[in-house]
Amino acid sequence: MRRATKIVATIGPASSTLEILVSMIRAGVDVVRLNFSHGKAQDHIDRATMVREAAAICGREVAIMADLQGPKIRVGKFEHNKITLVVGEKFILDSDCEMGNQDRVGLDYKELPRDLRPADVLLLNDGLVVLVVDRILGNEIHTHVKIGGELSNNKGINRQGGGLTAAALTSKDMEDIRTAMSFRADYVAVSFPKNATDMVMARQLANIAGEPFKHRPQMIAKIERAEAIPALQEILDASDGIMVARGDLAVEVGNAAVPALQKRMIKMARASNKLAITATQMMESMIVNAVPTRAEVSDVANAVLDGTDAVMTSAETASGKFPVETVEVMAAVCLEAEKSEDYRLDADFMNVVFTRIDQSIAYGALFTAHHLQVKAIAALTESASTALWMSRHNINIPIVALTPNVATQRRASLFRNVIALELQQSTDTDAVLKGAQDLLLEKGFVETGDMIVVTWGEPMGQVGGTNALKIMRIGEY
Ligand code: PGA
Ligand code: MN
Repeated sequence: MRRATKIVATIGPASSTLEILVSMIRAGVDVVRLNFSHGKAQDHIDRATMVREAAAICGREVAIMADLQGPKIRVGKFEHNKITLVVGEKFILDSDCEMGNQDRVGLDYKELPRDLRPADVLLLNDGLVVLVVDRILGNEIHTHVKIGGELSNNKGINRQGGGLTAAALTSKDMEDIRTAMSFRADYVAVSFPKNATDMVMARQLANIAGEPFKHRPQMIAKIERAEAIPALQEILDASDGIMVARGDLAVEVGNAAVPALQKRMIKMARASNKLAITATQMMESMIVNAVPTRAEVSDVANAVLDGTDAVMTSAETASGKFPVETVEVMAAVCLEAEKSEDYRLDADFMNVVFTRIDQSIAYGALFTAHHLQVKAIAALTESASTALWMSRHNINIPIVALTPNVATQRRASLFRNVIALELQQSTDTDAVLKGAQDLLLEKGFVETGDMIVVTWGEPMGQVGGTNALKIMRIGEY
């Protein structure tokens, strides 16, 4: 059985040997995420090299996603590494404090006192500790504890309702973009963007940093601020995809609002011809257990039914005890959920006006493939854009992107229901179509006598728009 939903796996100390990476890729990882909130530049460079090596051993292309830390606001360190806050007690967040104690702690974002007002609610450590602002005195934020608990070094701070003004890209992010481009990261995930401008800036920086390596990454906007929700359409227009970053998002908008937002965000992304990744705590209990909870299984399955391109792991595979098992379970849950999908071409698809020839061919191929129930759609493509358009609609037929370009192959590994394979192209159309046929036979997508739909750009062998569609019977060439 072939799985349509892709798996993005964060790697870290628990998964940074060649052996584990190979097992994870064999278990179903399509995209590896390097989390720049942890580790040094060299760690990421070493891991990226190892991922490429592991993918080569497995005989397939895997994309690398560099996830920038962004302006996550954090408390400083404590003398004894942590404290316990008790309900009703006073506590001070102090921009000038060097080393924290039971009374106060420092802040990495010195401007925070300027952004806050009395009665603001601050959520620390993903909402496990809650403080209410009483007053601001210079660089000190005086609060009282509303929900107590342990607070340790460098834990994050969010304001309920959002609205903190820290810029989306920090100087560390800019440095990390350069590191990520040195190993040609296929995707760059931008943390905490609040509008399209943040994404436009991030893309410009990434393109400049990628220039010496002739590399342009795809940009993913992590939707994790309250302000990003009303700006979603403009953020989508400026990005190649979004991540439903449920950890920080839930802290800002409240847990209860997240499931409906997830559905809306995935739907909007697909309607805008963009990608969607569903992230955070999907298999959380597998950090310590070899099996997930029923609720986690439902969460993954529901994301599949929402139409997500990919489900993502964080600590489960970065620092958990069962990185390989987590991927195996996720893959199995996705497959099972996909079986229950209802495959009908969306009705509103019938009324779209196409402005582009290549897009019309992509939709023509979908329509034909669906109604003829062919075995596969083969899209001969430089940039994978035809495969992307096709994959925004539910169809129970695999979309095979055939490309001479390895970066395109890697990029397409995030697209739902797309398998990207390498195929050299030439000016000889018959030779290329025969090559496509042989490759699909070799990879087991088709048997002699099966029908497929093929799309390409005529004249063959030149970079240019897709303008041709053929219904082909395997064995014809
Ligand atoms: P993070 O982003 O893991 O980088 O915090 C994801 C999220 O907030 O859900
Ligand atoms: Mn986050």
